Amino acid sequence: MKIQRSFDEERPTLYLVSTPIGNLADMTYRAITVLKDVDTVFAEDTRTSKILLDHYGVSTPLQSFHAYNEDDKAASVLKTLRHGKSVALVSDAGTPLISDPGARLVQVVLEEDFPVVPLPGASAALSALIVSGMQPHPYLFFGFLPQKSGARQKVLKDFKHTSHTLIFYESPHRLKKTLADMRTVFGNRNVTIARELTKKFEEILRLRLDEIENLPDLKGEMVIVVEGASADEAFTQSDLVEHVQTVIDDGESEMEAIKKVARLRKLKKNTVYMAFKQHKSQDDQE
Ligand code: SAM
Repeated sequence: MKIQRSFDEERPTLYLVSTPIGNLADMTYRAITVLKDVDTVFAEDTRTSKILLDHYGVSTPLQSFHAYNEDDKAASVLKTLRHGKSVALVSDAGTPLISDPGARLVQVVLEEDFPVVPLPGASAALSALIVSGMQPHPYLFFGFLPQKSGARQKVLKDFKHTSHTLIFYESPHRLKKTLADMRTVFGNRNVTIARELTKKFEEILRLRLDEIENLPDLKGEMVIVVEGASADEAFTQSDLVEHVQTVIDDGESEMEAIKKVARLRKLKKNTVYMAFKQHKSQDDQE
């Protein structure tokens, strides 16, 4: 066991600093202080982050940190930490690591026993969730779905039976196709589209999936929040069996499918196993 007491630390530290998702005023005082105090700020796009840093009078040097150069950049973060200097990671917008680079960096920094400290702030996913009008928890944040319809539907099928509220990031040009796939897989459910959050044209659209033909063309950044499966959908035995069968049809072994369904529905593996076996033995007798 390793225990990090963030506010007693004297070792150089990696700070994960959240930044606004569109509204500059959503910066926290603590974020500004930390960005001023560290030796280097690693940023996804240094030009984007420079605008923010200039706005708040932060003159700390910036270095780029992209998903494609994460391993190389992780090495230079480690080098800075080993020289006794703290660093910050920011993404273009919102909370670093959340559909943004940084997860690998956190792993390697922890492996070398340097502290990692989170600075909370804006998050498109959580803002959309709390404004959706849907049950705020349990929720399941997925991020970006696959771009091709077949692969997208396959992922959506995994969540068809979960009662968790579902959160997805999506680009405007794929929105309608993704909603159509959701209607195919989930049937008719409530959906909230939270667009341009915190910005001048912020818009929250609440609709049912059978209304998507009436949806205007939407631009900008957006989050899709989908109502979870109803109690009936989530827990009837035939759905459970159908769910296991869908996962098997998608290429998993029977045992893996049972484990996966149990995990997704927060059920005991044995409950899913018994339901599936009982159904199979009925089928065999017929
Ligand atoms: N790290 C960010 C966060 O904490 O929310 C997310 C980064 S991800 C690369 C960008 C996606 O987040 C966008 O395509 C969109 O789905 C969502 N997003 C970011 N800013 C948004 C905003 N202002 N309004 C709605 N969605 C937003």
